[in-house]
Amino acid sequence: MKFGGTCLTNEDALNRVSKVVKDESEQKIVVVSAAAGVTNALRDFVSKPRQEKEIDDFLLQMKLKHVEMLPKKDGQTRKEALEQIEAKITKLERLLYGVTYTEELTPRTNDLVLSFGERLSAIVVAARLAHEGMDAVALETDALGMITNEQYGNAVAVLDKCEKNMAPPLHAAIKKGQVPVVTGFFGITESGHVTTVGRSGTDYTAAVVAYALDARPVEIWKEVDGFMSADPKIVKGAFLLERLSYEEAAELAYFGAQVLHPRAVQPARLKGIDMVIKNLYKPASPGTVIGKSKHARKDVIKSVSYLPNVAALKVYDTGAGYKSGFLAYITTCLHEANINIFSATTSQTCAAVLIEEADIAGAKKAIKAIIGTVGENFEVNPGVALVCAVGEGFGETKGVAARVFNAVAAKNVNVDLISAGASMVAYHFTVDRKDLKNTITAIHDEFWGKNDNSSGSAES
Ligand code: ASP
Ligand code: MG
Repeated sequence: MKFGGTCLTNEDALNRVSKVVKDESEQKIVVVSAAAGVTNALRDFVSKPRQEKEIDDFLLQMKLKHVEMLPKKDGQTRKEALEQIEAKITKLERLLYGVTYTEELTPRTNDLVLSFGERLSAIVVAARLAHEGMDAVALETDALGMITNEQYGNAVAVLDKCEKNMAPPLHAAIKKGQVPVVTGFFGITESGHVTTVGRSGTDYTAAVVAYALDARPVEIWKEVDGFMSADPKIVKGAFLLERLSYEEAAELAYFGAQVLHPRAVQPARLKGIDMVIKNLYKPASPGTVIGKSKHARKDVIKSVSYLPNVAALKVYDTGAGYKSGFLAYITTCLHEANINIFSATTSQTCAAVLIEEADIAGAKKAIKAIIGTVGENFEVNPGVALVCAVGEGFGETKGVAARVFNAVAAKNVNVDLISAGASMVAYHFTVDRKDLKNTITAIHDEFWGKNDNSSGSAES
């Protein structure tokens, strides 16, 4: 049972968390994100040089925030939790002083700092569950041996090692009747350094824990019902999806649906473990189940997602298409500048890659340096939106793509770059940002009719 930061906010939300955990009659493990806003606060704090006084104020705030979330009633549970919080704050204090004195923040130290959000929230949640009569224990993923590679800020778990290290202590705790409350978001390298698995990565941690124990299902508790057929802020008739395949969920998550960490399905998929999105405010609602493909209708798409702030970088070169290494040069150069590429397409005269709009300046600088050696000239077009239509039908059924693009064309929207075929379950393409709303609505209407959310389920 994974609880995100938005579940760890006020008294009401925290009570709901305790209740759903208590009401779960099966053996269970809880995995928690940092309380809402804490990871950002840690990130912002270390992002610039600080005075000692600022550190003290910051730590006091951090401590109070978590103490306020503890069960109010005095007693052993509260006392122990207060001591644990105090101990974490002391460690964080040393760390922050270290950063201040050395005036240096390496990606490695940054990850260690960020891990404190989850260390603190696990103490709070364990105390609240204990207060409700459960034998809850806060456990940290570095101590448990959640081994990752060394990619600080975006680490990937080494699953067989995680299984070997994490299964015995977690099984032992459960056997004793305990409810482990495990920290999300971070792991540890083989050489003993804390790594984070990427922002919103607690979903991924939950899947790693499930993989390690062969525990199923993974419940992702949030403040939304699950994956929708489209963003309900754009499409009135958008409806909840009952079921998605791992691939569909991964594509939607990667291309803008902020329901699940894009990499979270990977460990679950390897063991065929279902992941279920659950709404903390509607625990009886079934949510969206993500699992093995059980698609009944292949003539439809399931959902449309989007990334609103994208830019297209195009590098021109006559004969680019037959110059070996052309695309590799460009992607390597962007990779070295730490710029993420959403997608790439090439033709005989041009290689086009999609990047985040926020990366435009960095990309321009990086590409300028190689123009002449690679490519004759280049341009960057801002104001682009990327639309992603997902459904298993794309790979298998004639005419699905035609329906998508005809619907868009009928709205007089120009489609610029298209990427199809790389994924069996998704097509994505770019449009001018001003056309985004029209595009999403057109596709949704094409498959589900205007404002019709009754006949819409893609399931059998
Ligand atoms: N606390 C981390 C973040 O905010 C991880 C998570 O929330 O899942 O990114
Ligand atoms: Mg968070």
